[in-house]
Amino acid sequence: MSNITNQLPVEVSSLNTPMQAIFDYIVIGAGSAGCVVANRLTEDPNTKVLLLEAGGSDTKPELQVPSVWPTTLLGSEVDWAYLT
Ligand SMILES: Cc1cc2nc3c(=O)[nH]c(=O)nc-3n(C[C@H](O)[C@H](O)[C@H](O)COP(=O)(O)OP(=O)(O)OC[C@H]3O[C@@H](n4cnc5c(N)ncnc54)[C@H](O)[C@@H]3O)c2cc1C
Repeated sequence: MSNITNQLPVEVSSLNTPMQAIFDYIVIGAGSAGCVVANRLTEDPNTKVLLLEAGGSDTKPELQVPSVWPTTLLGSEVDWAYLT
């Protein structure tokens, strides 16, 4: 995980223009799967990985209390409202 924490998060706006940054892999979504994939890929220090996350920070206190998620977070700004 150290490779990721050393490099991210990086605001896209700090990459000059996106076309000037070159990566070996682009992982979309820093959720459970995306973080595992990005971490595995960065085990090779010569591999450049861009991990893109559309969501905001996880500092909202309710996020730390799963039991209140259904009543406090559904329909909020942290809910992508994807139904399966
Ligand atoms: C309320 C709740 C409780 C849960 N509790 C448990 C539990 O206790 N134990 C358990 O094992 N599982 C639990 N799960 C299930 C678990 O969270 C999911 O199975 C798991 O997170 C799925 O991983 P994922 O990588 O597929 O998706 P996610 O973890 O959802 O990651 C997807 C990421 O992609 C980002 N994203 C979406 N669109 C874009 C875009 N266009 N560009 C960039 N980024 C984007 C999202 O913001 C998100 O960060 C729970 C799920 C919910 C909703």
